[in-house]
Amino acid sequence: MGGWRLIGNSRAVNALASAVSSGSPARSYIFAGPERVGKAAAALRLAQALNCAADDPPCLSCETCRRIGEAKFADVLTVTVETATDGSALKSIAVEQMRDVEATVALAPYEGRKRVVIVDPAEEMSAGAQNAFLKTLEEPPPHVVFVLVSANADRLLETVRSRCRRVDFGLVAGTEIEAGLIERGTDAEQAAVLARLAAGRPGWALEAAAAPALLAKRDEALDEARSLAGMDLADRIDVAEKLSAAFKRDRAAVDETLEQWLGWWRDVVLTQSGAGDAIANLDRREQIAADAERHDRAQVTAFIEALRETRQHLRANVQSRIALDALMLRVPTKRQETRDRRQERAPAANT
Ligand SMILES: [Zn+2]
Repeated sequence: MGGWRLIGNSRAVNALASAVSSGSPARSYIFAGPERVGKAAAALRLAQALNCAADDPPCLSCETCRRIGEAKFADVLTVTVETATDGSALKSIAVEQMRDVEATVALAPYEGRKRVVIVDPAEEMSAGAQNAFLKTLEEPPPHVVFVLVSANADRLLETVRSRCRRVDFGLVAGTEIEAGLIERGTDAEQAAVLARLAAGRPGWALEAAAAPALLAKRDEALDEARSLAGMDLADRIDVAEKLSAAFKRDRAAVDETLEQWLGWWRDVVLTQSGAGDAIANLDRREQIAADAERHDRAQVTAFIEALRETRQHLRANVQSRIALDALMLRVPTKRQETRDRRQERAPAANT
């Protein structure tokens, strides 16, 4: 299945490829799994495979494959959360958007063999949108394939889920990401670092290889993860306010920041448990070791749990300010350092 040329998740990809080559793709799929592991890329490959006229599709080089890859093919439609006129993201995929989909898919393909509708992130469909979509799913026109892309598939209505063939995607081994980057022209040293930092997410690694700005953002997030632990509560609440405002403009960026924080503290705990070889942020080994010395392991573990919960709450549309304020209460404090300071003061008091 070399034609699909995706990094990792070969079982999922092989299943899709053989469904296409045997002429029996499902009418509707759910591609489920964590962020940035290749679900959206696989959805595009499926659209290419269904429309490419080469002997062993997708060839990835013909006009059809190329235009689908550039989102310029009339019969491949991606439905996502729209941006409001003021630049902020709307809360969800609206019922009107899914009604438009219903009207579009009723028409025969315009230039290809199949119309492919990708809904990403599918769990952002409002309840109304899911119900509108359900009607289309019950009697899909034969020339249509739907792909619901979701990192939180359990938030889809059971009635929607039960009408889709589920394909699970998972985190990808670092060695596979590294090889994939090298194959795409990243030099070996850089590929090794990015593969490690990607923590199983080839999408992140590819993006970072193409856009050094992403690495700068990561550095910023990691610096913040460290400095938070030294701030008093008032300053941490200021950070929560800033993040909450950012969340209204760009949810994914805030989720990425929290993911980086999570990665940082995970590395700290790994180091505390003597598994420092397994850390992801290899280039910051010394800082991680210092934080591992400085912080109480139980506090760090509790904060990792708090970060996970906060990300879930934000995805479930809990009020961002409340969720982020609560998170700030659970930031590890530099217990070790205050103890050191007390010890330094003690002899002075005797003189
Ligand atoms: Zn092609």
